[in-house]
Amino acid sequence: SPAPGDPASSKGKLVIISGPSGSGKSTVTKRLREVCPLPLAASISATTREPRDGEVDGVDYFFLSEEEFQRRREAGEFLESKQVFSLGHWYGTLADQVATGLNAGKWVILEIDVQGALAVLEDHRYAPITIFIHPGSMTELERRLRDRGTETEVAIQARLKTAAGEMESRSVYQHQVINDTVDQAVDEICHILQIHKESTSCS
Ligand code: 5GP
Repeated sequence: SPAPGDPASSKGKLVIISGPSGSGKSTVTKRLREVCPLPLAASISATTREPRDGEVDGVDYFFLSEEEFQRRREAGEFLESKQVFSLGHWYGTLADQVATGLNAGKWVILEIDVQGALAVLEDHRYAPITIFIHPGSMTELERRLRDRGTETEVAIQARLKTAAGEMESRSVYQHQVINDTVDQAVDEICHILQIHKESTSCS
């Protein structure tokens, strides 16, 4: 049986939500936490990219300098970390965010990319529920990225290229949800999570 403090011994669960940048996954995940009647908690990631307008340090991300990020990485503070885009920004899941949530019995949501999801899946301490959100089509994705109006053309092209790769990896996920409307996607994900709750409470 799992040792105390081992993630497998806690009541919490790990939920991975991925989807290309522009798939609307942040909006869906935020709404999910508001309306789905499960003890959901967001794991706040660290990143070296600049905050966008309206983003708050410690809420949307921990915005770290490159030096601070690398220092914490070398200290083993990340469950997984990746340099996501050709632009060179780092992103990572802080092990402490996950452990705190799981120990409190929360369903901890990791909003991370496909590489991050694969890294967590390889770490056999976790049996995450994995969900991929997709925007319907690449055309729709491009429209959303442009509408956001926060990225340079170079950044948009880099994100589209990464998105195409992510779309190809979506079969790695247990569940795929199309984000046609936010409410529909949220309902669908909440339903998926509730089925996982029922199937684990019988064992
Ligand atoms: P954005 O810059 O749009 O907030 O995020 C860019 C990409 O980085 C998204 O695909 C997002 O899911 C991913 N991401 C955010 N946090 C993490 C993290 O902690 N780890 C990994 N691997 N990817 C992350």
